[in-house]
Amino acid sequence: MADPLEHPCLACGACCAAYRVDFAVYEIEGHGGSVPAGLAVEVTGNTWRMRGTDHVPIRCAGLVGKVGERASCGIYEWRPNPCRELEPGSHGCERARARHGLPPLETAML
Ligand code: SF4
Ligand code: SF4
Repeated sequence: MADPLEHPCLACGACCAAYRVDFAVYEIEGHGGSVPAGLAVEVTGNTWRMRGTDHVPIRCAGLVGKVGERASCGIYEWRPNPCRELEPGSHGCERARARHGLPPLETAML
């Protein structure tokens, strides 16, 4: 059972293996941002994408560990905005967890 004091995302990682993660060029290192360019791909001149998030199965190149067991973002401090905006317990979170056969967060934390 997960440690109730530990952040629930550390036993999850589902959203990093469920969605395409696109963000503006200015979030990339070298363009005024902090996202490591080696972990992303250019989509258009203005848009970049986290590497692996348009693969099948989806898995962001920044994700470390195993989804549903122990997972974390390897570039947490430098992750792009879409990752910062997806909140634990949100609709997007629950949809990602369901996609990986994980129960909704509240239930999982009981
Ligand atoms: S799907 Fe939800 S609980 Fe899992 S890592 Fe993402 S935000 Fe955290
Ligand atoms: S950059 Fe980090 S938080 Fe964002 S999808 Fe990749 S592993 Fe997840």
